[in-house]
Amino acid sequence: MSKLRIATLFSISDGDNVFVSLTRNFFCMYKRFLLAVFAVFISYLSFAQRISYELSMPKPQSHYFRVQVNLSDFKEETLVVKMPVWAPGSYLVREFAKNVDLVKAFDENNKPIKVTKTTKNAWSIAKGKAKQIRVNYEVYAFELSVRTSFLDLSHGFVSGSGVFMYVDNYKDRSGTLEVVPHASFKKVTTSLPAAKESVQKDGSFDFSFDNYDQLVDCPIEIGNQEVFSFDAAGVNHTVAIYGIGNHQIATLKQDMAHMVETATAVFGENPNKQYTFIIHNVVDGQGGLEHSNSCTLSVNRWTYEGEEYKGFLSLVAHEYFHLWNVKRIRPIELGPFNYDEENYTTLLWVMEGFTSYYDELLLRRAGIYTKDEYLRKIEGTINYVENAVGSRVQPVAHASFDAWIKGYRPNENSANTGMTYYSRGQMLAALIDAKIIANSKGTKCLDHFLQHLYKTFYKEQNRGFSEMEFKQELASFLNEDMDDFYARYIDGTEVAPIKSVFEKIGVDVSQLNTIRPSFGATIRQENGKALVKGIRANSAAEDCGLSVNDEVIGCDGFRMEGADLDSYISSIPDGQSFTLLVARNELYFELKATMGTTERMQFTLRFGQDKNLQKLHDYWLRTQ
Ligand SMILES: [Zn+2]
Repeated sequence: MSKLRIATLFSISDGDNVFVSLTRNFFCMYKRFLLAVFAVFISYLSFAQRISYELSMPKPQSHYFRVQVNLSDFKEETLVVKMPVWAPGSYLVREFAKNVDLVKAFDENNKPIKVTKTTKNAWSIAKGKAKQIRVNYEVYAFELSVRTSFLDLSHGFVSGSGVFMYVDNYKDRSGTLEVVPHASFKKVTTSLPAAKESVQKDGSFDFSFDNYDQLVDCPIEIGNQEVFSFDAAGVNHTVAIYGIGNHQIATLKQDMAHMVETATAVFGENPNKQYTFIIHNVVDGQGGLEHSNSCTLSVNRWTYEGEEYKGFLSLVAHEYFHLWNVKRIRPIELGPFNYDEENYTTLLWVMEGFTSYYDELLLRRAGIYTKDEYLRKIEGTINYVENAVGSRVQPVAHASFDAWIKGYRPNENSANTGMTYYSRGQMLAALIDAKIIANSKGTKCLDHFLQHLYKTFYKEQNRGFSEMEFKQELASFLNEDMDDFYARYIDGTEVAPIKSVFEKIGVDVSQLNTIRPSFGATIRQENGKALVKGIRANSAAEDCGLSVNDEVIGCDGFRMEGADLDSYISSIPDGQSFTLLVARNELYFELKATMGTTERMQFTLRFGQDKNLQKLHDYWLRTQ
C-alpha cells in the first residue's frame, strides 16, 4: 500500500489537505499515545514492587538462619507471605513452616506491624500505607539432606524453598539476595547470578534472581568448601565440595567433564552457560537433587574409588540429565510450581525412570561399562522389578501420582503394595528405546524422542505437556498405537513384554520360572533380638499369624537367633509344619506354621548371533 492509499482510507477532510490533515492528526494521536505510555511507565515505576532478601547466620551453632525480606512500594494494605510446604524434585509435603520462628514485620520508621498467621504456612501483614516494610524471621536448619537446610559451625546449606518465604501473588517478581556469612565462613557457592562483581567490603555476597522460582531453584553452600571449576560442552562448571573424602580433584575434573559431554550429546545442545555442583561428603549419602542449572549431591565420603566411584559418576549423570528431563522437558504440573500443596503427576516414571535409564546408559556410552556389563545391569533391573510383589499391585502411573503419600512415606508393608517408578520406569525406558530402534531400523533411538519433546514443548512453547500429550507424542514417534501398552504396563501391572521387544534388536531373552520353599518373613537381629521387619503378602509367615515387630525367640522348641534361625527356617521343606516361639507386647506365645513356596521369574539377556540384528544392539549400546 502506498502512503496516499493509506491517507484515503482515513479521509476525514477533502481536497489537497487530506494528507496534511491526516499527518497532523496522526502525530497528535501519536503524541497522546506516547504520553499515555509514559504515564503508565511512570505509574508502573512508582508501583514497581521491590523485593530483597538478606540471609545471615550470626550464631551457626544454634542452627538458625536469620532472614530479612525487604518489601518496597507494594500498594496493598495487607500482604501475605508464605513458606513453601515442599521442595521441587522431592515429592513430599515437608511442612517447612514448622522450622520458622519469630516472624515480625516493621515499617520504614521501625514501627512494628501486626502479623497474623492465617494458615499453616501463611502470615498476613497489615502494613497499611507503609511504603517500605521488612519482615524478619528465623529458620531452624538442622537437617542435612539435598532437599532440606542445615547450619552448624562447619558450614551452612540452604535449600531455598525451606528458607525463603514468598510474597503471595508476587512470585514472578525479580529481586536480590544478600548473603552475610558467619565470620568463619569465607565462601558462598550458588548458581544464582552475582549481583555485583566481587565480595563487598562488609564480607557479604550479593546475588540477583529473575523470580522466586529461580531463587529457590539455586541451593547455596556457605562455608569453607573446596571449590574448583572445569569447562565441558561449552559450559563453565563450578564444583563445591563440603566434607573430608577420598576424592581427587584432577580425576573429578576429567570424569565429571566426560559425563557432562556424554549427557549433552544426547540432546545436541546445553541450555546453560554456567552450572554448579554442590557435593556433600557425609556418612550416609542420600543421592542428589536436580535444579535448572545446578544440583546437590550427597555421597559417602569414601565413595570415590572402585565400583562405588562408578555409582558416583552415575549419580552425576543422573542429576545432570535432569537439567533437560524434568527441569525443561516436563509434565505440565511440574512448573511453574504450586508451593502450597502436592503437585500431582502420573509422569514421574518418565521423569525419574527415563533419567535412571540414562544414568547407566551414559556410563556405557562413556565407555565405563562394557556392553556385557551394561546388559547385566538392565537384566538386574528387570529381574528386580518383575519379581517384586508390589509390581503386581501398583501400576507405575499410580506410583507416580501417589509418590507424595506412598513412595516418600514407605512403611513395613510398602514392598507388598508398591513398585518404585525409578526402577519400573527405567525398565520401560529400555523397552521404549528398543522399540524405537527396531521400528526405525537402527536410525533413531530414545535420544531422538527426547530431542523432539525438548524442541516441541520447551523451546517452541516453553511449557510442560499433559499426560495425554506425552502419550500421543510417543505413539506418533513410534508410529504405533500405544493404548494396549499403556493399559497393560503403565496403567496396568502386567509383566512387561521383555522377550518380544528385545528380540527385535537382537537381544535374546530366556525366562526360567522356579518355585522354591519360602516362609516369607524378613527377620533381622537388633540389640540381641531377632525382630520381624517385613512379611510378604500371602506368605506362610502371614498365614501363621506372624506380624512385623514380633520378636522370634525360638523354633521347634529350641532357642535360636541370627544366622542359626535363618538357616533353620530356610532348610524346612515345602509343606512341613513347625512352631515358632514369639514375643509381642511383653507376652510370649507359640505359632504353628507350615512352610510355603514362592515363584520366581529369572530373565536372562544375551546378545544374539543374527548379523542383521547385531547392528541394532551395537547401535543401542554404542560408545561416543
Ligand atoms: Zn532423579
